[in-house]
Amino acid sequence: MAGPVFDQVLIGGRWVPAAGGTYPVVNPATEEIAGHAPACSVAQAEAAASAARDAFERGPWRTMSGGERAALLRTAAERFQGEMDGLVELTIAETGAVRAVAEAQQVRAVAGRLLRAAELATAPLEQGVPPRETGRSLAAGVIVREPVGVVACITPFNFPMTNCAGKIGPALACGNTVVVKPSPVDPLGVAELCRIVDAVLPPGVVNFVNGEGAEIGEALVRSPDVDMISFTGSTAVGRRIKEAAAGRMKRTVLELGGKSANIIFADCDVDRAFASAMSVWTFHSGQICIAGTRVLIEEPLYEPFTRRLAASGPTLRIGDPREPGVVVGPLVSAAQRTRVERFITRGREEGATLACGGRRPPHLSRGYYVEPTLFTDARNDMTIAREEIFGPVITAIPFRDEAEAIALANQSDYGLYGYVWTGDAARGLRVAHAVRTGTMQINGSPLNPDAPFGGYKLSGVGRVGGQWTLGAYSELKYIGWIA
Ligand code: NAD
Repeated sequence: MAGPVFDQVLIGGRWVPAAGGTYPVVNPATEEIAGHAPACSVAQAEAAASAARDAFERGPWRTMSGGERAALLRTAAERFQGEMDGLVELTIAETGAVRAVAEAQQVRAVAGRLLRAAELATAPLEQGVPPRETGRSLAAGVIVREPVGVVACITPFNFPMTNCAGKIGPALACGNTVVVKPSPVDPLGVAELCRIVDAVLPPGVVNFVNGEGAEIGEALVRSPDVDMISFTGSTAVGRRIKEAAAGRMKRTVLELGGKSANIIFADCDVDRAFASAMSVWTFHSGQICIAGTRVLIEEPLYEPFTRRLAASGPTLRIGDPREPGVVVGPLVSAAQRTRVERFITRGREEGATLACGGRRPPHLSRGYYVEPTLFTDARNDMTIAREEIFGPVITAIPFRDEAEAIALANQSDYGLYGYVWTGDAARGLRVAHAVRTGTMQINGSPLNPDAPFGGYKLSGVGRVGGQWTLGAYSELKYIGWIA
């Protein structure tokens, strides 16, 4: 049997055999078996939620000082760092990420997130409210930040461990207990992460369940023991979760899909803007929620820019992510490839021009590959401009002026991210203000972990990142008295 075999789930500090045995996890580059993952039952998911509830009520996690929680989270981060080499190999095998992405964004980023969570744990828990004259007397009081309770952390396939660490880190820092449910496509690294973190925390604080279908996640969302759902994934599933959570008014943080505009004005640093457009192909084969997949290009630049893109796509080395020099790996699964191919067919049917790519690479007989693909002569009302493809597909649309660029960017059901490239700083800022989206990056500004992150419109509800994470994973209580 190839790869690691995980046949257990973590409930209340004990690894127990998954009721449904295991199922194979497929290496998307080779279509061979990368390992086996546990298939637990709905009853086990419910038991994990109940164990998390017990651990929350019983303490000591909830009642520990922030400093004590921080020390344990730092220990977890250090232990994780000690295992990173092996985890990179596992990540490549189960996600298909090329080595550079696996090392930096899929593995090292996890340790970074745990360490930031440790810092967050020491944030003040109380804030005084100045006395206020009310007519009869003075009102005064204090605002207390408390954990929400049990947080179900439901994560997608694209950055499994990083996304999970971005949820459990802050949830734990705030004193919550968690039940983790990863994507069934590539859950092995997440199981390892939970093993490492659980080993240093009190039993039941971290629980891990997994299974192939939707019913394990649904059981957590339904469970009366779960107070909050922190979900990252598709808008379709996010909508179902929000509906199901409404009955008990469960707290939700929903990080959903995107169709972000990358707005490129003719006066920009064209080489840098070009590199950013190419990242839709080279950064995890476009399986990124914040990818700038709608490339809006000012008319004088449109023809040379898209010609250069069309010429560059076929030169990118696509293949087994373990091979040095490969920059485009496979899509995560056969299902994901089929989905991307359907969008490519749709783009052609709706009249866009396939300027490069669009096929399975002829030299690769195995693996879920799709060539870097560019559509030109596209309109913003086409399916390939409206819907999230989540693959190496760029839709290039021309615009005449600033007003049209803003209008096109905003004609979208999504609003997760956005990019603008221009040599005119004032215009960059104007456009950034005008686009209805959670983040706008001007001229390639880097990701900032202290900034709020989240979506407008169908891209989600809530904000995480920096101090906003505290708000997402805490309840605020006001205790008032007469002064
Ligand atoms: P998905 O929505 O199919 O699945 C996400 C998770 O939800 C998985 O763990 C899945 O098993 C679980 N799930 C499925 N049905 C469920 C249900 N009814 N109840 C509870 N849980 C359920 O998403 P995916 O295909 O794994 O990931 C790709 C999507 O994730 C894309 O849309 C992408 O944009 C999005 N994403 C968003 C962000 C962000 O920060 N906004 C980041 C990464 C990925």
